[in-house]
Amino acid sequence: MTHDHSGTHYDYVVIGCGTIGSMALWQLTEQAPGARILGIERFDRVHTKGSYSGESRLFRVALKEGGIYIPMVQQARRMWLAMNERSGRDIFLPVGAVSVGPADFPTMVQTMAVIEEFGLDHEVLDAAELAERFPVFAAPAPGAAPDTAILDPAGGGIRPELAVAWAQQFALSGGATLWDNTRVLAVEPGPDHTLIRTERGDVTADKVIVATGSWAADIFPDLAAHISVQSIPLTWYLPLDITGFLPENLPIFMRDIVRETGGGTEIWHCYGAPTLDGYSVKISHGDFVGGATTPDGLEALRTGEIPADVVRVFSERTAAFFDGMLDAPVRISLHHDGFTADHAPVLCHVPGTGGAVTVATGMSGNGMKFAPVYGRAAAQLAVDGAAPGLPDAFGYPTAVREPSPAVIPATLH
Ligand SMILES: Cc1cc2nc3c(=O)[nH]c(=O)nc-3n(C[C@H](O)[C@H](O)[C@H](O)COP(=O)(O)OP(=O)(O)OC[C@H]3O[C@@H](n4cnc5c(N)ncnc54)[C@H](O)[C@@H]3O)c2cc1C
Repeated sequence: MTHDHSGTHYDYVVIGCGTIGSMALWQLTEQAPGARILGIERFDRVHTKGSYSGESRLFRVALKEGGIYIPMVQQARRMWLAMNERSGRDIFLPVGAVSVGPADFPTMVQTMAVIEEFGLDHEVLDAAELAERFPVFAAPAPGAAPDTAILDPAGGGIRPELAVAWAQQFALSGGATLWDNTRVLAVEPGPDHTLIRTERGDVTADKVIVATGSWAADIFPDLAAHISVQSIPLTWYLPLDITGFLPENLPIFMRDIVRETGGGTEIWHCYGAPTLDGYSVKISHGDFVGGATTPDGLEALRTGEIPADVVRVFSERTAAFFDGMLDAPVRISLHHDGFTADHAPVLCHVPGTGGAVTVATGMSGNGMKFAPVYGRAAAQLAVDGAAPGLPDAFGYPTAVREPSPAVIPATLH
């Protein structure tokens, strides 16, 4: 990519052009047509080091978190479909979402409560209907509670690398400039403009959006106390017969198994997507490997292996979730995201900058599905100074956020 350094002042600069930053860059070109808009990305235009890599992400409308998230996710769905239409690509896969578990399992109960509160489309399947419709799910162990399923027909999958590439593409067609392989070193708000120090020299901007994901504390060190960066593994397994795992036959899925063991009750959770490569199925397990770490630590983790005993546990569980899988993963990758205490993102003006700097980070394992809406809100905060409908819960954390009844912590995916 050519680096156009002819002008060094911009109306708007977006720092970090990954999931939220690419959407913010696109949305700025829509909301401030004709403005001078620059996106700065530390790595390649689309890369493997951010929180968005890994082939697929889950999208659900019947979110057990409910409340503030439902109108936003409904709006996001409309925007995902519009992205499909405009790009001519299947960025959003409207395959539905299915949650499988015992009917009295807390997340199943909570999901049904949200469905009823918001009058969301859904179908409930009993054990026999589940077995007939989606025969790939393994039957519960003898003596375990029978499974039920909640089908969320508005759910689906997202192809995250495509989403980032196309949001950037829309921004470029709208007149934005994008610098890749350029690391921002510091953001210094001043009385007339904000100075952005980069590896390739300084630029200034009237308004800045910082969307640097797991690296947010590099620019705002105070955020380190509020956002913990955690590593998240993904695994893909190989079924000998792929038919039941094709996108036309299987929605994106989540499953919980409750097991009584000698040592007490164990809950096994998995989530994943129908096959996208035609031979393997993403079946990932809720457990984080490596726990909280720093982005630098993550760079080391990313190149490392997931310990063999952890992979063995994943595989043992996969066999309990699905029938017909070979007993070891054919693909493993390790990723990361920044988590806030209440799992609500930080999406607001940075205090003390007079509205000149907006930050979007702390997506807490849940930012992909909302990305177009969060990107649009970030652009509105920059252009108009306010984003209608943005929850107060997304404000800048000055004290440790206490989980509030209004914000049910979102789960990963
Ligand atoms: C394994 C996994 C599974 C997930 N599953 C789901 C799911 O099913 N559904 C869902 O909704 N969400 C899911 N998520 C969460 C979602 O993917 C993330 O919340 C989202 O991608 C975070 O977006 P972001 O913009 O904050 O970060 P990123 O997408 O990582 O973007 C940050 C960008 O900033 C750049 N950058 C950083 N520092 C600088 C700098 N100094 N200068 C310039 N650029 C910089 C980075 O290179 C990067 O491109 C999952 C996350 C993971 C890791």
